[in-house]
Amino acid sequence: MPQTDCCDTTDRLLTLAEAINAVLPTISTLTKTDTVPLFDAYGRVLATEVIAGLDAPPGDNSAMDGFALHLADLSPTVATQLPVTGQALAGHPYPGHVLPGTAVRITTGALIPDGPDAVIMQEQCRIGPDEAWIEIAPQSAARLKPGENIRRRGEDVQAGMLLLPKGRRLRPQDVALAAGQGMATLEVIRRPRVAVVSTGDELYEPGAALPSGAIYESNRYTLIGLLRRLGCAVTDLGILRDDRESVLPALREAAAMHDVLLTSGGVSVGTADLVKEVIAELGHIQFWRLAVKPGKPVTFGRISDCLVLGLPGNPVSVMVTFLMFARPLLLRLMGVEPTAPVRWPVIADFALRRKPGRREWLRAQLQIVPERGHQVRLYPTNSSGALSSLCWAEGLVELPEDCAGVTPGDTVYYLPFSELGVD
Ligand code: AMP
Ligand code: MG
Repeated sequence: MPQTDCCDTTDRLLTLAEAINAVLPTISTLTKTDTVPLFDAYGRVLATEVIAGLDAPPGDNSAMDGFALHLADLSPTVATQLPVTGQALAGHPYPGHVLPGTAVRITTGALIPDGPDAVIMQEQCRIGPDEAWIEIAPQSAARLKPGENIRRRGEDVQAGMLLLPKGRRLRPQDVALAAGQGMATLEVIRRPRVAVVSTGDELYEPGAALPSGAIYESNRYTLIGLLRRLGCAVTDLGILRDDRESVLPALREAAAMHDVLLTSGGVSVGTADLVKEVIAELGHIQFWRLAVKPGKPVTFGRISDCLVLGLPGNPVSVMVTFLMFARPLLLRLMGVEPTAPVRWPVIADFALRRKPGRREWLRAQLQIVPERGHQVRLYPTNSSGALSSLCWAEGLVELPEDCAGVTPGDTVYYLPFSELGVD
């Protein structure tokens, strides 16, 4: 058994929260940054605050297609007729001053010309031939207030205000906000370089002929997809056989060139489980095993500056341990403050008994039951090898360490995959 810093206590396994709380403070956000064009900025993490340089909108402008006029011209008792003396179009401001007693045609987004103090919607006017005049009924006039249908300069954004905080993972609307400020590029944190490798003598690449006793490798397909969605730069190291001669140099080289190394398989107590021995030999192991189900043998350590996560080989364990343990660590590295995913209280439609001690995740689907609200149902079997159950599931039910069982009608906590960046 490899030497460990903490955690591999004889009496009690570390809980997930203890492991995350122990490891997160030791991880610093990557310091290198990239300056990227806006269309490449989606999903990237801002390295600096974005401060507004401009007021938005840059000037008072019309919120409607209609006519800009002086409110004082409108009669509350009889219809008012005003000559239309010109037009203010979006991108083509009205050049002069609009005199009292006149109106100008205005379109949405056009600057309010000098003079008028309101815009009346075109639907509320009777419009003369060739738009030579408009007539406004007293009821419409009575409803019109000063500033009506005018969007004021700086109403949305004022120059100098904080628009986007450092550490924001850029969503489409965030990128659009920067575009609206005339910014052509954004400074983002470099993508974490993550290497992924699977281990096992039984594993073959899809497409290859399968010898007896072998299976096709699938964990890299889960992990690489999850990593790409998170915004990591992934190196695929393929499959390693269960022998020191292939595992040791591969991990050493990968660790030298990456921020994170993710392995799957070879961390439990089987005779061929040499991944954790190799990690211990090349670097050190901070912990091995957590009080979780599935995924108990998960291993965390470092080889020089590279974080090494040894995930168990079972396909369900791989995904669950990635989402619950690897994801927050990667987010921290990327500069995003990992917040606990929202767990929704829902009603269980199932019964189970269990031995308290480990935090457990069960593959689940949400269903809306009339009059009862949201209910969850579980996949019929709970094997950590059943990859198809993860495809059936829309999320996970989380049972806390002290849970001894569930009876139908109990409230349980449901974590939709979408909360974990998988949808
Ligand atoms: P291990 O953690 O290496 O003991 O593997 C546990 C189980 O997961 C075994 O049944 C392995 O065959 C299976 N397994 C390990 N790695 C993979 C993989 N990359 N793809 C599919 N199944 C795997
Ligand atoms: Mg194995």
